[in-house]
Amino acid sequence: MAKYNIAVMKGDGIGPEIVDEALKVLDAVGEKFGHEFVYNEVLIGGAAIDATGECLPRATVDACMASDSVILGAVGGPKWDSQPPANRPEKALLGIRKALGLFANLRPATLYAPLADACPLKPERIKDGLDLVVVRELTGDVYFGEKHRDEDGTGHDDMNYSVAEVERIAHRAFQMARQRRNHVTSVDKANVLETSRVWRETVERIAAEYPDVTVDYMYVDNASMQLVTNPGQFDVILTGNLFGDILSDEASCITGSIGMLPSASLGETSRGMYEPIHGSAPDIAGQNVANPIATILSVAMMLRYSFDLATEADAIETAVNSVLEAGHRTGDIAKPGEKRVTCSDMGTLIAQAI
Ligand code: ATP
Ligand code: MG
Repeated sequence: MAKYNIAVMKGDGIGPEIVDEALKVLDAVGEKFGHEFVYNEVLIGGAAIDATGECLPRATVDACMASDSVILGAVGGPKWDSQPPANRPEKALLGIRKALGLFANLRPATLYAPLADACPLKPERIKDGLDLVVVRELTGDVYFGEKHRDEDGTGHDDMNYSVAEVERIAHRAFQMARQRRNHVTSVDKANVLETSRVWRETVERIAAEYPDVTVDYMYVDNASMQLVTNPGQFDVILTGNLFGDILSDEASCITGSIGMLPSASLGETSRGMYEPIHGSAPDIAGQNVANPIATILSVAMMLRYSFDLATEADAIETAVNSVLEAGHRTGDIAKPGEKRVTCSDMGTLIAQAI
């Protein structure tokens, strides 16, 4: 029986409610497939500030570093708005990503057939389906270059990418494509940016090591248009920090269901951090009405990408689909007048389907 040690950071707002449901589903997977998942619950964000004064206590970082993988609910809320900038709950996310050496952010955008109505795109634009993942580089690019202002007020942000930074994210994307449909679209602006020329040359070189994966190259302006006109052509979108920031938000909104979208952040090792893309939703916290599916699907990503348990990950995704197929909806994905299930009922239904 394989044993996996998981650091669990439930966080704030709806975080504890949705993570509890994800662990319920994970326990069902463990029971069915004979794995032992051991949880080490630690504090982050507002909950950590309340208990220790710090948004990211050392003990939390240590527990994450000692784990096989990390699950995060969500952090933040109005209660901690008056914290100094360095101790805001959101700061903890940057801190933990850095401590764990996470450089690749994965944001899948998948449209589940029973929720096709929620997709804001015209039906003919999603006739090829919608199941893609944006792989965004997290540590380089214009966000981390030197910044300064001239005496006349002109602002500068230095944009840079090293070959090594592009190589490691490119490997991640090609490896991911092998676990999906074997296609990578690399997005840059190589017609005008030097960093993008480095990006493209490096991706071309790495691509040669993955002859089983097809690759194409797209300028970011075209890619942002293609995402809303013909998203079915994409499998893995590989891009830098700035373009990835924008494209991953665009990819998220084309499914129409924020409560359904998971994410992963990966580094050099198999240890990753898995969390829903949505925030702590303080407006609905404590009411047992949040949609836990984004967190449940994040756990599926953990099984697939950190533990290499593809069958188990598939089982979660299939269970989610079958529960939606059977008509169960939390408030955020219900149509007016449709019956709604609670957060905990949704978790139980998915666990039972497994
Ligand atoms: P953050 O800054 O942390 O990203 P935010 O203010 O951008 O937070 P969210 O916390 O993601 O936004 O919430 C945006 C809206 O979506 C809110 O109305 C919230 O209730 C709703 N929402 C977010 N996640 C869920 C969920 N899992 N289930 C149901 N509704 C959700
Ligand atoms: Mg937000």
